[in-house]
Amino acid sequence: MNVIIMGPPGVGKGTQSHAVVTSKGCVHISTGDTLRMAIRSGSELGLKVHAIMNAGDLVSDELMMDLVRDRLSQPDAQQGWLLDGFPRTAVQAEGFIGLLDGLGQTVDAVLVLNAPADEIVRRLEGRVTCRACNEVMNLKGFGPVQPRFCPFCGSAEDPQRPGKSALYQRADDKEETIRHRLEVFRKKTLPAAWALEERYPLHEIDGLGTPEQVADRIAAALG
Ligand SMILES: [Zn+2]
Repeated sequence: MNVIIMGPPGVGKGTQSHAVVTSKGCVHISTGDTLRMAIRSGSELGLKVHAIMNAGDLVSDELMMDLVRDRLSQPDAQQGWLLDGFPRTAVQAEGFIGLLDGLGQTVDAVLVLNAPADEIVRRLEGRVTCRACNEVMNLKGFGPVQPRFCPFCGSAEDPQRPGKSALYQRADDKEETIRHRLEVFRKKTLPAAWALEERYPLHEIDGLGTPEQVADRIAAALG
């Protein structure tokens, strides 16, 4: 089974991807992993990617398309795949449809996981990271009394900078950043989903509720 999963940051895409890969026995393909794999392989494509990333440039749509084609052609991908993080724009989606036609592959389901912006902000806002052990946690789960010590490693202070608290909110988890990323998803990635819908079955999945409830909705959509 070939599946594309799309969703804004904080909607639980990682957890749900894992569940689909486990239940359907397909290989999880994320753009980040694909880039890293290409670089590690030392192939001609990998060298190109390495040079571009070293220069701090973005990988072009064309190169990304070559990388995805290369990844989907590998033997392990013939058992089915779950693609996560690509295509991200309508232009990439159009190119991707052509690419799959060229490979003789199709998409069984496009999953669009979504939740209202306020809900996503509420979920992510309480998220803090521990400077000592790097564990990410949500302080909302701890009720009105916020812990001073990391519940995972017990640290109260940043081991590198005494006096600075171990638990902190990353810039990525601040409301303004979250709202900006949600806006990018709405303006760029949703049009990619609608372009894919012209060719493949698309399921909009309600991302509200527990991870188990969301997984059940996805399982029902995949059949
Ligand atoms: Zn910790």
